[in-house]
Amino acid sequence: MPKRPSEFALIERFFAPLSGVSSFLRCGIGDDCAVLTPAADEELLLSVDTLVEGVHFPPAYPPSQLAERALAVCLSDLAAAGASPRAFTLALTAPSLDEPWLASFSEALAGAAGRYGLALAGGDTTRGPLCLSLQVMGVAPRGAALLRSGARQGDDIYVSGNLGGARAALDFLSIAEPTAFEQRCLQRYHRPEPRVALGEALRGVATAAIDISDGLAADLGHILRASAAGARLYCERLPLLEGLDKLAQGLDYALSGGDDYELCFTAPVAARDQLVELAERLTLPLTRVGEITTGQVLRCIGSDGEPVTPAGGYQHF
Ligand code: ADP
Ligand code: MG
Repeated sequence: MPKRPSEFALIERFFAPLSGVSSFLRCGIGDDCAVLTPAADEELLLSVDTLVEGVHFPPAYPPSQLAERALAVCLSDLAAAGASPRAFTLALTAPSLDEPWLASFSEALAGAAGRYGLALAGGDTTRGPLCLSLQVMGVAPRGAALLRSGARQGDDIYVSGNLGGARAALDFLSIAEPTAFEQRCLQRYHRPEPRVALGEALRGVATAAIDISDGLAADLGHILRASAAGARLYCERLPLLEGLDKLAQGLDYALSGGDDYELCFTAPVAARDQLVELAERLTLPLTRVGEITTGQVLRCIGSDGEPVTPAGGYQHF
């Protein structure tokens, strides 16, 4: 009977090729620790995300989609902090080491990591219910990282791209022949695009930033708490995914639906022209959706001028 390849042989085959050494990663997969060397004038930014089967992605999710989505979700945190991606680690828990699954997973992971200049610095492989934990590492010039705490009264509030599609997709996940609109929503759910170039360009421009993983209202709320500020948000300005306005829940999804992984950021009024240019350069809409106020309250204003109460963002517990 042919011998099954050992865990180490599988790591060597499927993961070691993703671990190119660079001036940042002096030593990657194959030793006890990865050795990282950020430049002297840089800070290291870290973020970890865990994706559990049945909680963050549906059972029997295609491995290539899983790899891309996991990396994108993690990278979105680096983008929100204005970091340039450098390396990541992968803790993989799986019921078995299924070779076709690993081949498809690692191929997609290599593609996505390559697009963002990420080397796989190491990881861990264990047996159990399917679960991925990815830690991403990036760098930013000293003092330049974007935090949630810098929003000031009078700042504009912006949102990148469009909103609501990923939440709407949850209603269509099992539709066999989705319409063009449903496909657009599904694309937003399965293939979120981390706004890395935007985050890097916002260093020195944005006063605060966050990525929208739990819904705009909830995530803007985090900026407000960290900045001890309030905000007015104009619902009619929200950039809904094309076609979403035809759904009764469209506005709700844009305001409170998660998983879009766009950036919400604040910037002084003086930066408006610069941000118009940036949107053109990145071919990414940057929509001014409100302003920062005093008073530590988020006021959402409907098209009739009346207050709108957003549903709560997604919470695990
Ligand atoms: P140790 O027993 O010293 O913790 P491991 O057996 O966990 O080492 O891992 C051996 C090497 O393979 C390490 O360099 C580790 O970073 C790497 N590695 C293990 N699992 C993965 C994985 N899923 N992805 C990337 N690298 C991995
Ligand atoms: Mg280990």
